Amino acid sequence: MGLLDGKVAVVTGGSRGIGRAIALRLAAEGADLAICVRNVEAAGAVATEIEGLARRCLVRQVDVANAQQASELIEATIGELGRLDVLVNNAGITRDGLLMRMKEEDWDEVLAINLKGAFNCAKAAVRPMLKARGGRIINITSVVGLQGNAGQANYAASKAGLIGLTKSLARELASRGITANAVAPGLVPDTGMTGELAEDIQEQMLAGVPLGRAGTPEDVAHAVAFLASEQAAYITGQVLAVDGGMVM
Ligand code: NAP
Repeated sequence: MGLLDGKVAVVTGGSRGIGRAIALRLAAEGADLAICVRNVEAAGAVATEIEGLARRCLVRQVDVANAQQASELIEATIGELGRLDVLVNNAGITRDGLLMRMKEEDWDEVLAINLKGAFNCAKAAVRPMLKARGGRIINITSVVGLQGNAGQANYAASKAGLIGLTKSLARELASRGITANAVAPGLVPDTGMTGELAEDIQEQMLAGVPLGRAGTPEDVAHAVAFLASEQAAYITGQVLAVDGGMVM
């Protein structure tokens, strides 16, 4: 028996890094998956892995910043997989730079994908979840959204915004059995995102991790699987840091 037998989950940005690990973990717990990315070819490998776990996997080319495309993703999920139980808003980007030099388009793009993307997907997902009188919304934020980070004003603002969105959804939807929680990873190296971080900055960040190691995509995926399951039915509006104790 898996934690998510018979359930259907949508994971945005499920082709690589943390999103890939989440999709595989939810599938291993028995869920069928819909994943969306902009570069659809890159998602073929994870779809094959999910099908190898005897789960169905729908792959859609979607830019989550586009409300119409986000809505079509949810419609296609229900049309082809029959239901929607879990939405994981994982898709995210960075466009780092000190505020003085940050271009307006870098601010706009990060906010459009990281924050408005989650709004677009949640808005589309809530209707079927309300009908079903149940569901799980899990937003992947970051420790940077809790404590800020020099050179990441746009990213930190988007991730802090996700926490406000999560808590508001938790309050709006609780009476219908829908929970909304956020997971805040610390440093998770070797993903597309952290590949861009200079090694000395990664080392500096690691020095502030009480558990003495970096996180893995699987560390994050375990937390998401728990929050997606029935075991987390009495948890809503929370931010669960998966960061080795970096922020406490
Ligand atoms: P990643 O390896 O760069 O993967 C990002 C994923 O999001 C890819 O599948 C990407 O696919 C997809 N994506 C990006 N923009 C999209 C869009 N507009 N529409 C649909 N899909 C889109 O990043 P990661 O490190 O795994 O990060 C995943 C999440 O964890 C992000 O929200 C990130 O902020 C958060 N996080 C990461 C860390 C870390 O240390 N890695 C720490 C804290 C939080 P395409 O490019 O093909 O669209």
